[in-house]
Amino acid sequence: TITVGVLCIQGAFIEHIHKLTTLSSTDKHRDLTITIVEVREPGQLSDLDGLIIPGGESTTLSVFLRKNEFEQTLKAWISDKQRPGVVWGTCAGLIILADDVVGQKLGGQVTIGGLNIQCTRNMYGRQNKSFESAIKLHHPPLHAAQPTSAPPPFPLADDECHGIFIRAPGILKVNSPDVKVLASVNDDNIVAVQQDHLIATSFHPELTSDFRWHSYFVDQIKQHRYPQY
Ligand code: GLN
Repeated sequence: TITVGVLCIQGAFIEHIHKLTTLSSTDKHRDLTITIVEVREPGQLSDLDGLIIPGGESTTLSVFLRKNEFEQTLKAWISDKQRPGVVWGTCAGLIILADDVVGQKLGGQVTIGGLNIQCTRNMYGRQNKSFESAIKLHHPPLHAAQPTSAPPPFPLADDECHGIFIRAPGILKVNSPDVKVLASVNDDNIVAVQQDHLIATSFHPELTSDFRWHSYFVDQIKQHRYPQY
């Protein structure tokens, strides 16, 4: 059994839960039971193998993360050196995971950090500039500099996926060779990265019919938390 939490405070959390629920009954992941936890309290984190921080609105998310020491507990859980959980932030979740947020940080965003990237909110403009686009997947992942370790396997089978960008943040810079670039649009806009146990996408795979990103997330949990599988 692996236990996967979805932060259910605000935003597109139902869609992530639906994806994980469907995924747990597919052939690929039938070797394990995926227990899905709707995370609303910091005390729930300690039982998790993985966590999704969904897209939504990072200012609103931050208001709730400031309550009950949620922010501190999440930070401690994410940076646990012994056996950290695997975290995937989509869109607003990416902002929360970024070490450096520049530009419109007007909402006093909580930045848990851990991902050594620089991002900016609403890079492509306001709501009416939201768009859909083909995304190029990189195999193997691109590196900012010389890799310091072997790249993680990236099993999205095809070269492209469909991206839904809703007031999406932009990844302006990758600040460490440990950050792998998994995908981009228009050749140079980075839209998906991974640093060890932290994954972030500026788009919303949970709003498409594609299960590959969720499947990849589950695979990463297996690899990081249960390498014996
Ligand atoms: N622009 C939003 C923010 O700054 C994120 C949008 C999203 O998650 N779809 O929080």
